[in-house]
Amino acid sequence: MVDARKVKDMVAKKSSQFVGNIASGGKVPPHKHCRICQEAISVKADPRVCKQQACIDQNEKDEKNQRSVRIAMFVFFGLFAVPYLLVLVNRLF
Ligand SMILES: [Zn+2]
Repeated sequence: MVDARKVKDMVAKKSSQFVGNIASGGKVPPHKHCRICQEAISVKADPRVCKQQACIDQNEKDEKNQRSVRIAMFVFFGLFAVPYLLVLVNRLF
């Protein structure tokens, strides 16, 4: 048999925990996290990194990487798009 009182207690505890989480969550001021080390930083921080030089360097490196990946994607796409367009043009004429 299931002890009804125990179940009731458990439900009460769970719901009070839930309410507690919402209450404390509302008190946290708006903030961002460093994208490298996840440390809390100012909302206005731009780029989104803390003041550690290691994080600033890492962020710069990542941005450079992203830029080269984007360029590589454009080139890759172009390699596929050009022959496709040529075939399309050949079919039309
Ligand atoms: Zn950091």
